[in-house]
Amino acid sequence: MICIPITAVSNKEALHDVRRSCLIADAVELRMDLIADGSLVDLISAARSSSDTVKIIVTCRSNEEAAAVGNLSGRGSGTKNKKDKKMTILKKAIKLGADYIDIELAEGSTAIESLKLYCEKPGGSTKIIISYHNVRKTPTLARLKEIFHQCREYKPAVVKIVTYAQKPDDNLKMLDLIPYAQKRHQEIIALCMGEEGRISRVVAPFLGNFLGFAMLPQTTQSAPGQLTVCRMRQINKLLRDDETQQTPPAFSREEHQFNNYILLGNPVKQSLSPPMHNAALDDLGIKGRYNAFCVYDLAAAVQGIRGMDIRGASVTIPFKSAVMEYLDDVSDDAIKIGAVNTIVNDNGRLAGFNTDWLGLIIPLGEAMTIKGKKFVIIGAGGTARAAAYGIMKEGGFPVIVNRTAENGKLLSSALQCPFYALKEIGKIKADCLINTTPVGMYPHLDKSPVDDAALAGYKYVMDVIYNPLQTKMLKDAGQAGCLIIPGLDMFVHQGAQQLKLWTGKEPDRALMKKVVLERLAGVE
Ligand code: NAP
Repeated sequence: MICIPITAVSNKEALHDVRRSCLIADAVELRMDLIADGSLVDLISAARSSSDTVKIIVTCRSNEEAAAVGNLSGRGSGTKNKKDKKMTILKKAIKLGADYIDIELAEGSTAIESLKLYCEKPGGSTKIIISYHNVRKTPTLARLKEIFHQCREYKPAVVKIVTYAQKPDDNLKMLDLIPYAQKRHQEIIALCMGEEGRISRVVAPFLGNFLGFAMLPQTTQSAPGQLTVCRMRQINKLLRDDETQQTPPAFSREEHQFNNYILLGNPVKQSLSPPMHNAALDDLGIKGRYNAFCVYDLAAAVQGIRGMDIRGASVTIPFKSAVMEYLDDVSDDAIKIGAVNTIVNDNGRLAGFNTDWLGLIIPLGEAMTIKGKKFVIIGAGGTARAAAYGIMKEGGFPVIVNRTAENGKLLSSALQCPFYALKEIGKIKADCLINTTPVGMYPHLDKSPVDDAALAGYKYVMDVIYNPLQTKMLKDAGQAGCLIIPGLDMFVHQGAQQLKLWTGKEPDRALMKKVVLERLAGVE
């Protein structure tokens, strides 16, 4: 089980995080000591209405334990966390039907026994987690076992022991506790905090830890060393996958069923994916429709794919990276690129893929030899990453050029390739130039990301933009004597690869290209 601690500063933000978390996690932990005006009634009902299965844990840490977490320390006032207030909150959680309440061993037998009695009242279903935290170090294994038995004396549903790892060996002590508890038929959460403790977070699920904690993207860790949900799932996938067994999506549905496919993006009005995909679906004899949706709430849109049994989705700007958090599986290519442009819904299980890199490599490889050649890529976004990934996979050498140096350097250091500022582009000697920025896209037809003087040194120039068919940059390149590669073929190939993933069938790429050309003739 993956549990997301809800640590937002206000009830409003916490409600938002609860709804997002319920879509991607198995449990949420409501940190009532941190949510300043947190309303248990609101938060529990938001979780219940977002998911039938998600488990709710309610926690109200003491100041000392909350202060363990550097970036959350100082939140939660002294008075707020007084013991009587804490007891009131936990009793209320039991009354509201939380699945678990977490009470520290340090709170002592009177508090623990009183909460147990509350849980055992007729109709009650809440279970108790008894926890121990050591925010400075990891005690010896013998001491950890003693603590385990002290917790266990109260017969809790789960014992939770979390310590601070000062050195890698500390993980081993903590991980030892998991089989130790299992032999005694006791559910346990055993983890080490801190950077050195990350390994315990990765390995513990494989040993049978009751649950692991992960954070939502763009939120604060509730304990140091926590990974995001996506990272946890990616690591689990990497460790569980048999590399020889590539898992193709299953196509178990009946052929006569009507299949819906969608495009998620914002904006999507200009997209030519709907006519292209619909023509290919009709040609393949697949009963289905592809529609574009302008998305404002990504989490809700992904939930809609599951809820409305949408068979597949394309993902475009600005969601290609953000969407990864909400998926059950992400392909190795997409993980390496850091972006998903295709979702396959396999009976409610959403898998993410990236077809942009292949879409780009196919026409590029048809125009020139990639192996051993040098490619200047303008841009450092998702498409630049996909382009660089594909080029490197084919044995070519990318060079990143970007407007914002920080973004460009980040990508170039991840790829271990050179970076140049856009104004320095004239200094580079390379075989091919590829624009992956939106500069020159409809309706800004008179714009080019580079001066025409900078184009003369390239034999090949490619633009990923397909509307217009020939951007200003490609026109300038043609006049400078370069061989030009327009973005239309990339668009068709990335779309065809999507259809293959969704339907298992090879679409007619010439037909797809014809449909887009017809539409462009009408649009331009
Ligand atoms: P992205 O992640 O937002 O990245 C855009 C990149 O372009 C960033 O590096 C940004 O630089 C740069 N940029 C934006 N405006 C700029 C400007 N005015 N001057 C200089 N640089 C600028 O977008 P993306 O997902 O990579 O998509 C980029 C383009 O590729 C879009 O036009 C999209 O339609 C196209 N595309 C085409 C296909 C196809 O099939 N043909 C497939 C995928 C994408 P900073 O870092 O400085 O912000």
